Amino acid sequence: MSSTIIMQPTAPAVDAAHSFAAYAGLAADEIHERIRAARAALGQRLVILGHHYQQDEVIQHADFRGDSLKLAQQGMQVDGVAHMVFCGVHFMAETADILSPPEVSVTLPDLGAGCSMADMADLPSVEICWEELTEVVGDTVTPITYINSGADLKAFCGRNEGIVCTSSNAARILEWGFARRERVLFFPDQHLGRNTALDMGVSADQIVVWDPALELGGNTEAALQQARVILWAGHCSVHQMFLPEHVDQFRATYPDIKIVAHPECSREVVEKSDATGSTEAILRIIRESPKGTRWAVGTELNLVQRINAEDPHHEVHFLSPTYCVCSTMNRIDPPHLLWTLENLVAGQVVNPIVVEEPDR
Ligand code: SF4
Repeated sequence: MSSTIIMQPTAPAVDAAHSFAAYAGLAADEIHERIRAARAALGQRLVILGHHYQQDEVIQHADFRGDSLKLAQQGMQVDGVAHMVFCGVHFMAETADILSPPEVSVTLPDLGAGCSMADMADLPSVEICWEELTEVVGDTVTPITYINSGADLKAFCGRNEGIVCTSSNAARILEWGFARRERVLFFPDQHLGRNTALDMGVSADQIVVWDPALELGGNTEAALQQARVILWAGHCSVHQMFLPEHVDQFRATYPDIKIVAHPECSREVVEKSDATGSTEAILRIIRESPKGTRWAVGTELNLVQRINAEDPHHEVHFLSPTYCVCSTMNRIDPPHLLWTLENLVAGQVVNPIVVEEPDR
């Protein structure tokens, strides 16, 4: 999508900081019209970033669509940007703040838009894990966090000679980790870690899961000493909804169908799929497949429906009979976006996301 913003003469008159309550009952047409007017008033000082999983009602106003890291990078490429409004979830806005200079504000239109996966690993639990683990296996572990995690966990990895990965580069990052130490501790998503490690040739008996509620994560010392990959017991509530039987059902109904799944899906689903990839990879795989290919896609519903609506050359199905959107991301809706933008027009940054030192 273009980042060009057309200036309009009819910017809204905004008196002062607005409370959200005034926005809850507005009609949809008025909300969208006022969003367009506020965008025009802010011009190129504003960039609206829309994650692929965001609902259409919000994504129509985004300057860029993409995954979390790509969006933060694209936002920074706009000349003169002063405000980035991140229509995603909390860790994504944190990433944008870390990558942007202090004078650029980053806003999350609804602070309730968290990520249930990111919330499954917190710093105190990871520090306990690190202490227990290193007591058993010594200085042999590279900590790796998925970008879907809090800024404090990314900083933890930095302090302990570890690194951050995305779903696109997880294999290269695991290789990087193994080049430095014998083992990796991967958090918070066990499925991305397991799928990546198994695809790299790590054997299943060298992979263990760390349950933070249990001593030694529920493992014996011998199992930890044998392990090359220690997976945090986290998962994505959306991608865990896809089941192997869904793949079987689609193949029974459409013998020619191709299945593509996100690596946050379980190993059983990934093994039954024709392809696996990040959201950006899924888009590319479908786009580059022969015209007329029928696909079933194991990732968030808003994205799958949008691919189907915008791609005239492929038939695209959602891989689950169950409605599974990212409910926290869907807290970002047009009223919250409008509230955020009209406050920016009034000179107020509401819901700023600021990552403080030493986590930057
Ligand atoms: Fe988090 Fe899953 Fe939602 Fe992505 S889809 S933001 S991993 S809960």
